Amino acid sequence: MPKGLIHVYTGNGKGKTTAAFGLAMRASGHGKKVLILQFLKSRTRNSGEATSAKNLGIKVIKFKGQTTPLFDPSVNRSELKKNIKNSLLYSLKQIKSGGYDLIIMDEFNNLFRDHYADAVDIGEIIGAQTEGLELVFTGRGAPKELIDLADYVTEMHLIKHPAANGLMARKGIEF
Ligand code: ATP
Ligand code: MG
Repeated sequence: MPKGLIHVYTGNGKGKTTAAFGLAMRASGHGKKVLILQFLKSRTRNSGEATSAKNLGIKVIKFKGQTTPLFDPSVNRSELKKNIKNSLLYSLKQIKSGGYDLIIMDEFNNLFRDHYADAVDIGEIIGAQTEGLELVFTGRGAPKELIDLADYVTEMHLIKHPAANGLMARKGIEF
């Protein structure tokens, strides 16, 4: 079996996480085993997409304790980096396990944009890809190293977003 392909959803426009969950739904509909790993999600909100995915038998893991200083200024950056390192090690184990056909790493790209992880982590993650495993990376500011290695790269280009007019994230639409 050939190696699976690598997908990247990046850019400042809306649709990266929902595109990845849509792909998860499609794969699951054909009996593929899907794992979704979520980085940098806030503590409080439970997203509708995670609930729906779980209802379909898709495994979703939201890493705990990864609220960023942007949302909570009291967050300790070095603690957060350590936490992220551990979640990358866990992800690596899952990738090597051979137990999945599709693994989505949601908001992975932001780890590099915000310097919570290094390019060497990208090499390790992609180097661990097993035969037939499709990998999907979402998030703003995908690093060049990842774009160079990817097969599909889609940029959600921001033209308009109501947040610019102060509209808060809405349940069922943004989360
Ligand atoms: P979706 O989850 O709807 O597919 P996304 O994954 O592309 O969107 P992210 O970049 O992960 O979106 O953004 C996370 C959250 O940040 C959004 O749900 C929204 O609440 C907020 N957001 C998105 N775009 C903007 C923007 N242009 N300005 C301010 N806040 C935004
Ligand atoms: Mg997202």
